[in-house]
Amino acid sequence: MLNFERSSLSQKLTLTSLLSTGSALLVVFVAFAFATVHHQRAAQERQLATLAETTGAQSIVPLLGADRAAAQQVLGVLATQPGIQCTALFDRNGALFATADLVSTLVPAPKVDTRSAVARTVWIGPPWDPALRLYRPLHVDQHLVGIVMIEANQRQLLMDIAESLALTGAASAIALAIALFFASRFRTSIAQAITQLITAARQVSHSQTYAQIEHQRSDELGTLIDSFNAMLSQVEQRDLKLLQYRDQLERQVSLRTEQLEKAKNAAEAASQAKSAFLANMSHEIRTPMNGVLGMTELLLATPLNEQQRHYTDTVKRSGEHLLVIINDILDFSKVEAGKLTVEYIHFNLRELLDDIDYVFTPQAQAKQLAMDFDIAPDIPVAVCGDPNRLRQVIVNLLGNAVKFTDQGRILLRVSITAEDAQAVCLRIEVQDTGIGISREARDHIFDSFSQADGSTTRKHGGTGLGLAISKQLVELMGGAIGMEQPLGRGSLFWFTVRFDKRAIEAEAPAGSKQLRALIVDPDPEGRQALESTLTRWQLRCDTACDGDECLHLLRAAIACGQPYDVALIDMALPILSGLALGAEIKADAELSGVRLLLLSTERSAADTRQRREAGVAFQLIKPAREGDLYACIVAPLRASEGVRPGAPAPALRRSTQKRLTALLAEDNPVNVEVASAMLQTLGFDVRHAANGEQAVRAVQEGGIDVVLMDCQMPVMDGMAATAEIRRREQQEGGMRQLPIIAITANALQGDRETCLAAGMDDYLSKPFTQQGLAELLARWIALPRAATVHHGDLQVPALAVREAAINQKALDAIRALGSQGEALLERVIHTYVDDTPAMLRQLHASVQNGDTQAMRQAAHSLKSSSANVGADALAQLFREIEQLGRQGTAHGASVLMADIDREFRAVRQSFSAMLEKET
Ligand code: ADP
Repeated sequence: MLNFERSSLSQKLTLTSLLSTGSALLVVFVAFAFATVHHQRAAQERQLATLAETTGAQSIVPLLGADRAAAQQVLGVLATQPGIQCTALFDRNGALFATADLVSTLVPAPKVDTRSAVARTVWIGPPWDPALRLYRPLHVDQHLVGIVMIEANQRQLLMDIAESLALTGAASAIALAIALFFASRFRTSIAQAITQLITAARQVSHSQTYAQIEHQRSDELGTLIDSFNAMLSQVEQRDLKLLQYRDQLERQVSLRTEQLEKAKNAAEAASQAKSAFLANMSHEIRTPMNGVLGMTELLLATPLNEQQRHYTDTVKRSGEHLLVIINDILDFSKVEAGKLTVEYIHFNLRELLDDIDYVFTPQAQAKQLAMDFDIAPDIPVAVCGDPNRLRQVIVNLLGNAVKFTDQGRILLRVSITAEDAQAVCLRIEVQDTGIGISREARDHIFDSFSQADGSTTRKHGGTGLGLAISKQLVELMGGAIGMEQPLGRGSLFWFTVRFDKRAIEAEAPAGSKQLRALIVDPDPEGRQALESTLTRWQLRCDTACDGDECLHLLRAAIACGQPYDVALIDMALPILSGLALGAEIKADAELSGVRLLLLSTERSAADTRQRREAGVAFQLIKPAREGDLYACIVAPLRASEGVRPGAPAPALRRSTQKRLTALLAEDNPVNVEVASAMLQTLGFDVRHAANGEQAVRAVQEGGIDVVLMDCQMPVMDGMAATAEIRRREQQEGGMRQLPIIAITANALQGDRETCLAAGMDDYLSKPFTQQGLAELLARWIALPRAATVHHGDLQVPALAVREAAINQKALDAIRALGSQGEALLERVIHTYVDDTPAMLRQLHASVQNGDTQAMRQAAHSLKSSSANVGADALAQLFREIEQLGRQGTAHGASVLMADIDREFRAVRQSFSAMLEKET
């Protein structure tokens, strides 16, 4: 079907002329047809009337004389006329008198008004074969004497009409053709002009050709083409101008780009210079600070009179204060340089808060302020994030609170704002009753260098950087920070942070030694749930339903030489509450070695003081998060637990009587003096290397138990020296043997990672205290028993050799394999100890090359061989590496490798001790 809207202009024009001409012709044709039919019929009727009249006149005499034969004759003559198909004569009563019927025998009776003399006509027959019948009454002196009827067929009439219509139709068709011919001529003349316009417009848009359209027209289309041509030339001109502008602009842009490139390079160089300057400055400031603080500490350990001690104490405090300021400035510089980063490691949130409490409570007490810690009992224990940065923010807020408060109390509140399966959001508030902050100052309190009281007469010092840095840190940790005006005096600072919860693998074994746990819960379902979780972690579990049974089991375990490592006590015990039971256990010197975990509902939770008094290590709200439970049970006792007054002494540690030698690789004479003195106080023999090269040589000569390695040294720096020592170790036995600890004043660019990546085991930032040094060394090596550190009124007890616990069950399983069980076990252990280093080398190589496939395979076989000989902790580390390999990433593997090397050393040590004992 033709769509008028969509059809082309030419089609439209043709259609329009066709429709207009066609409809005009149709009207004329129809009118003509009507007229023709009408005239022909009228003529026929007239002709028939004349015939009837003549015949009527001739028939009157035979009618009056009743002479049928004569009448018949008259009718017979009439019937010879062309087209006549029937004639009849009726008497005055309407009865048939005579007829000449040529077609049928049925002559119908007349139905006429006999008084009227007018003839009546009737059209009969089908339309394609019509006939005309006429009745005429015959009167003599006004008296009817009869009626004549003539019937004539009208075929000729039809033929005549058809003929004239055919003629008219042909004429119309010719007229239409002529109209179309002229229409097409006019159409071409219009459409051609329009097509030209369209083509020209297309050329402009496609190829930007502005060719003018030629024409000789003087009509409206001519005017349109002229205007179009004019428009084209204008556009062409404009295009030319634009082109010129563009060229100009391009030249300008490239000029500017060049200038910007230069400026960017200069800025980058400046930024690099700034970073290098920061690193240097950090190093340069920390080095003398190490001298000042270290020497002061050493001086304080010598006999001094009261005045001298007072002066020295002041020097130390001022030094420590200066160090805080330096750290702030360095952090701020990192913010400026965009280099502030946060770590992502497992840590124990409760311990961190405890540490803070431990530091701040005495400070508050010294100012006679109450210090309250309102910590929601349901906050998690084991989380992943940056503990040091979290501590820094809390310490800054609490430090300000103590600084700006002279009376009243300080409150640290920690609560959960949201928690899902993976993470927990915490809100931490520090509220004080101090001087408060004015409305104007509140708006810019988190800006750098901003102080509420900027006057020279202000009472409190400070750089105004603490809050700015805290804000950056909190935002880096994905949280927000702010302050509010609390009711009453003082100020309230708050911040939010989000930490991932520690995830525990379903079958994670709880450490290398098979721990014994006692579950004390009156509810059988609760006992069973806990038991199944702990069994999954390969703990040996027993259960008790009340305090008496618990005490009985604890004593029985001690009596048979297998004490419980941990007791999980429900708060709601019958008779004796969980808290009271804990206190009773801790009061019994024999039982007090067991670690206590208290499980309670939120409502029955004990507060920190009650918990501490009862000797409960951690309190968990039921149902406890798996990660928390795992961390509380399995977490090794941290070094600091050993130095806390009242805290249980670290288990599982032995000491050695042999004197140890530390190699101190350090170029700065003051630092050498400080560190040497500290090491000597700790009972070490000290050897000194002035640069990395000397250090490598000294290690080569042997007899070194631990290396303290400065990072920046002349000739060969600490990183290169460590790498060289590790390379040689690998060449010789394939194992990392010697603990190397970085001591660096570079507190700047991700130093911990850099040092670990270079092959060092740990990291100590300068300036350090003797206590810090002792704690760190104790993680890697058994400190000589003589090395009891006097640090204020605290004492660092002797710490013992690091030896891995071996799962005896695994060894028993090997023993049970044959009749020569012991010999077999010995062989298996020898093979394990001999073969593992080569495999470890492979694993190291695959981690270094990022070949996760090889990493996975090596870790897998090491995991099973380690599990076979009962080195469960080591097997767990291999499992983690294997997991990484499976995830196709080597990210974080080098840190794990350091742990693995360390653990393998410990495992080897355990085995050699075991074998020694047996021979
Ligand atoms: P600093 O304390 O080193 O000057 P901060 O950034 O930590 O730097 O604090 C900026 C300013 O905010 C402080 O100088 C003080 O005026 C105000 N301020 C911070 N905390 C408190 C508080 N708890 N009470 C009153 N004023 C405070």
